[in-house]
Amino acid sequence: MSESHRAGLTLLYRGPLASCDYDCPYCPFAKRRDGPELLRADRAALERFTGWVGERPADDRLSVLFTPWGEGLVRSWYRRALVDLSHLPQVRRVAIQTNLSCRTEWLDAADTGTVALWCTFHPGQTPYDRFLGRCRELLERGVRFSVGVVGLPDHLEQATRLRADLPDPVYLWVNAADGHRYSDAEAQRWTALDPLFPYSRHPHRSGGLPCRTGESVVSVDGDGTVRRCHFVRAELGNLYDGSYLRALGPRACPLAVCDCHIGYVHLESLPLYDVFAGGVLERIPVPAARVPGRPLPLTVQGSRRAGSPGPAAPAPPVPGAPPVLGPSAPEPVPEPPVPEPPVPELPVLELPVRAAGGPGAWPPPGRPS
Ligand code: SF4
Ligand code: SF4
Repeated sequence: MSESHRAGLTLLYRGPLASCDYDCPYCPFAKRRDGPELLRADRAALERFTGWVGERPADDRLSVLFTPWGEGLVRSWYRRALVDLSHLPQVRRVAIQTNLSCRTEWLDAADTGTVALWCTFHPGQTPYDRFLGRCRELLERGVRFSVGVVGLPDHLEQATRLRADLPDPVYLWVNAADGHRYSDAEAQRWTALDPLFPYSRHPHRSGGLPCRTGESVVSVDGDGTVRRCHFVRAELGNLYDGSYLRALGPRACPLAVCDCHIGYVHLESLPLYDVFAGGVLERIPVPAARVPGRPLPLTVQGSRRAGSPGPAAPAPPVPGAPPVLGPSAPEPVPEPPVPEPPVPELPVLELPVRAAGGPGAWPPPGRPS
């Protein structure tokens, strides 16, 4: 079987790193301590992965989303990976989930046509003005990004303020909080901030339904073990010996429900490749999908079973919505390059992992950011 991925392959990479500089009460990985040995292993694993991506043919169509258990961008090797991969012709999009605690100057070295950030605001962990300031820096640098919050009642006031302070083209998403049941009135309040919140409010029935994972989307861990997604444990092979290639193909979801955006966005029974056309990995919808009050499409219009969800994807209109006028990303504003300041080492804290589970547990809990 050819090792070419000209038809498109999306890789969701998650190495062993699990520490974070924040301590969100809803996160099982807050204040986890990664010792020097694990950090070295994480760095080596990430560099092996980026090396593999770098060796792919230039006409491959790869999209990469880093979904670390903890916070990656406080580590230099994640920042370097994003910069380096953003310049490769075979990489259509490279993105990371982040709490945006890091400085942003390093992004000046990245190709802003390829790099993107999925940013989560955690009220209580960072001053509001600092987070908003970081978002403004991303806008000035022309970096594609989405911003989101976990939809807990305590977050509503600051999320509302953030929505008002961010320019309209910046999409603010709301994730339904794990274990929280939303009354209709409550859901309405969140939907006023994120018209796509109804997609997150309830888990999606997925058992037996076709899902692009395992065919055009795979999960890769630090050892190169390939699975279809972060939530189904069965292994498809290994990235580095090429054994995963034999296993790629269409297959139905073996789980009853899919409850996490980075999973159900790939369900073929949902129209989310249309809703997020060109921005699936960084969670940026087409502008027409964000029209408040417009009924959300719940069925698939046409099929794009294979292929990359990166920027090359066309952006068909959402049914019943006005024509798509253009990408929601801001125009780049050139900035003189600034040398990257050293990122301070994270304090080592000895608190226990907050909840049951952990990087070794299965199934893994959803990461809020
Ligand atoms: S939710 Fe995200 S930012 Fe908060 S502690 Fe967990 S990994 Fe860190
Ligand atoms: S629907 Fe979700 S759990 Fe099922 S295979 Fe797809 S990503 Fe995995």
